[in-house]
This record gives sequence, structure tokens and C-alpha cells, in this order.
Amino acid sequence: KAAQSIESTFLFYSEEMNQRAKEHLRIESELRQALQNNELQLYYQPKVSLRSGRIVGAEALLRWRHPLRGLVSPGVFIPVAEETGLILELGAWVLEEACRQVREWRDANMITPPIAVNLSARQFDAELPNRIAAVLERHQVQPDQINLEITESLLVRGTDKVIAIMNQLVAMGMSLALDDFGTGYSSLAYLKKFPISTLKIDRSFVIGLPYEENDCAIARAIVTMAQQLRQEIVAEGVETAEQMAFLRELGCDQLQGYLFSQPVPAAEFAAMLREGKRLAFANR
Ligand code: C2E
Ligand code: MG
Ligand code: MG
Ligand code: MG
Repeated sequence: KAAQSIESTFLFYSEEMNQRAKEHLRIESELRQALQNNELQLYYQPKVSLRSGRIVGAEALLRWRHPLRGLVSPGVFIPVAEETGLILELGAWVLEEACRQVREWRDANMITPPIAVNLSARQFDAELPNRIAAVLERHQVQPDQINLEITESLLVRGTDKVIAIMNQLVAMGMSLALDDFGTGYSSLAYLKKFPISTLKIDRSFVIGLPYEENDCAIARAIVTMAQQLRQEIVAEGVETAEQMAFLRELGCDQLQGYLFSQPVPAAEFAAMLREGKRLAFANR
């Protein structure tokens, strides 16, 4: 009986794996189409200053408008793109589109804060600085108008080569932010080796603020040490006024999250800038 159940379990899993593989293949081929058919779009989520309450940046987040399935989340297709290498084409599209948008805003006489673009570790090769320089040049966008978000996986791979590429980007005038900080393996001491100017505290540590003692301790430690390294701190995924108050008290610099705004299409982000939308701080 035991043997039989092991066998059926095995069959069950292999069937599931088969389905997963098919799903991956489908997403991969549809994603190629999406690049050709203009189904991709960038949404922008504001980053606001915890001092002034003003919008001081935005993160560009990829969206896929599938003709049948509607809006597909990056959580579904980015991992497939990473696995298949298609992330290189997606990443190139994102950089191009972000620069095109920044230029369009400037041509409309809008003053826009820096726009951050997410980079996959796979994009991080010796040619990256040249590729980025070419895109900036093509759209006549200044390097400080585009920030780059990278993840800890890149640091863990942390060879001298990676550091050299980062230094090259910084020398060009770009700034680097470390995304999802705290979820990987890098310690703050280790961070000193890399020319990173901003740390983004991962949403998973923000969720429990200010009630979960562990999350509070982690947030406090990250902010304190980052201040010593003179890095800017952005808290991700801030949804409540209590979370905001706690982070502000800690001395966190910026907040990004649904409390202020979800990621929105370019026109909506531009409208927020025009209206001077600001974060309201409760009077205490
Ligand atoms: P991320 O870079 O950490 O982006 C932040 C994610 O948190 C976004 O999810 C954003 O919508 C979500 N978020 C922001 N504030 C809140 C909040 O208050 N509550 C909740 N529940 N969520 C919030 P999104 O847009 O689904 O993107 C997921 C991930 O996909 C990103 O995480 C990033 O790793 C990846 N991604 C998105 N666009 C790109 C891209 O252009 N290139 C690459 N390589 N990865 C991308
Ligand atoms: Mg990011
Ligand atoms: Mg993040
Ligand atoms: Mg995150």
C-alpha cells in the first residue's frame, strides 16, 4: 500500500512538473510575441521623501497586457524570462522605454525626478555600461535621470568584475540602489565593497511594523547601519500610516508603497507631479 502511494505521489508530481514546463514554454513564446506586438508597458510607482512628503523619484515596473489574459504580473513572467534568457531583451526594452518616457516628459517641459529601472543579474556583463550609455545618448537623457536597482544575488556573485562594472556605471553618473535588502545573504559590512548609494528595505520587513518586534529590530538595524555607510534608505511596500510613522521616526529617507500610490501608467504619474501630490503626515 505504501509503495502504491509513493508511486501515485510520484506520478502526481511528474504530471505537475510536466504542466509547469508546458506553462513555461507557453509564457516564453508568448513573451516573445509580446515584445513584437507592443504588449509591454511601464508603470511608475512614486518614491516620496519622509521629510518633505514630496515625490522624489519613481520606480519603473514592467506590465504585460496580454490580449486574452489581461494584465499579467511580473511575478509570473520575470522568472520565466530570467530562466530563458529573454530577460536580456526585456531589460533592453525597459531601459529604452524609460529613457524615451523621460525625454518625452522633458520635451513637455515637465521636471521629473529620477526614474529607477530594475536590472536583472543576467544583464550585468562587461558590455552593460556601453549599452546604457548608448540608450542615454540616443534619447539625450542625463545619466542622473535614471537610477538602477540591483539585487543581492549580484553581490553574492560579487567578483571584482561586478565591482568594476558598478564603478563604471557610477563614473558615468548613475546611481545604484540595492533592492529587496535583507532577503539575501549580504551583510552591511560586505556592502562597503560596492558603490551603492541606496538601500531598499524589503517589504517583508515592513509588513510587521510597528507591531512585530523582530521586524522593528531588523528595520532599526538596517537604517542605523546604512546611515553610518551614508546610504539613502527607501522602505518598500509601505501600506499604513503606522508603518510610515515608525519608519519616519527611525530616520528612513523615503517610502514607496500603496499608502501613497500603487504603480500607475505614465500619464497618471505625470498628473501626480503636476498636481504636486504630497504625503500627508499626521499631526502629533
Ligand atoms: P521590486 O523591484 O521589489 O518592486 C516592488 C514590487 O512591490 C512591485 O511589484 C510593486 O508593485 C510592489 N509593491 C509596491 N508597494 C507595495 C505595497 O504597498 N504593497 C504591496 N503588496 N506591494 C507593493 P510588481 O510590479 O508586481 O513587481 C514585482 C517584481 O518584479 C519587482 O520587485 C521586480 O523584482 C520584478 N520586476 C518588475 N519590473 C521589472 C523589470 O523591468 N525588470 C526586472 N528585471 N524585474 C522587474
Ligand atoms: Mg525594484
Ligand atoms: Mg524591491
Ligand atoms: Mg521587493
